[in-house]
Amino acid sequence: MIIEQEWEEQLKTLKSVLCFLEVSRKNHYYCEDCYYTCPAHPEELEYYWTHSDNKCNCGANEFNIELDKIIILVKQHLNV
Ligand SMILES: [Zn+2]
Repeated sequence: MIIEQEWEEQLKTLKSVLCFLEVSRKNHYYCEDCYYTCPAHPEELEYYWTHSDNKCNCGANEFNIELDKIIILVKQHLNV
């Protein structure tokens, strides 16, 4: 009975963690001065298309890749 209650609590906690993770995705950095805006930001792509590669330089891509890995692990644990 106690183990079952503990599991229920852990499940609740994991579901909260999953909700938090799913809204934690980072956007590319944007600044009014386009020099500082991440080249992969959508507005940058639209208006300052002269960037040769438009590769992310703000870390959002790497962050989101790691975030997705953690979300998959939590979902596997929750079987959802
Ligand atoms: Zn970026």
